[in-house]
Amino acid sequence: MTTETRRAITPAATTPKDPRWSQQANCHHTDPELFFPVGVSKAAQKQAAQAKAVCMACPVRVACLEWALDTGEQFGVLGGLTQDERWGLRKVTPRGPGQAMDRCIEAREHIAEWRKAGMSQADMASVLNVDRSVLRAAVQRFDRDERRQQDLEAAA
Ligand code: SF4
Repeated sequence: MTTETRRAITPAATTPKDPRWSQQANCHHTDPELFFPVGVSKAAQKQAAQAKAVCMACPVRVACLEWALDTGEQFGVLGGLTQDERWGLRKVTPRGPGQAMDRCIEAREHIAEWRKAGMSQADMASVLNVDRSVLRAAVQRFDRDERRQQDLEAAA
């Protein structure tokens, strides 16, 4: 399927692994063009941000993102991430806890967004393909870093 073909349909319609799954997608009610920003101009970045906002409120966001990572889907905003962001998280099994922690650290900004959106640690671990205990340790580490930073700022 070409990029041009994809632009004519919603992202969810390209991911019919489970028809019930895709029928619940928020993008069914949104202009499909929104999910396919072209280039890196400010306008394209704004469009991607708008598409991500639709995804963040989507009830099947986790399933969509897992599908996109599992299949290596190359085009468009899916599951709240652009193709470049998904590329950074591609779902290769990390070798050992060290690599799993590295993946969590690389995904720190995404993890912060997901937490704000109320995503569970189990879902975050699944999306990142890391053990839950590693994800939990990473979240604790991020929280510790943030508290330390706030203490430093308060003391300054
Ligand atoms: S997460 Fe985004 S792209 Fe995926 S189904 Fe929901 S609205 Fe569509």
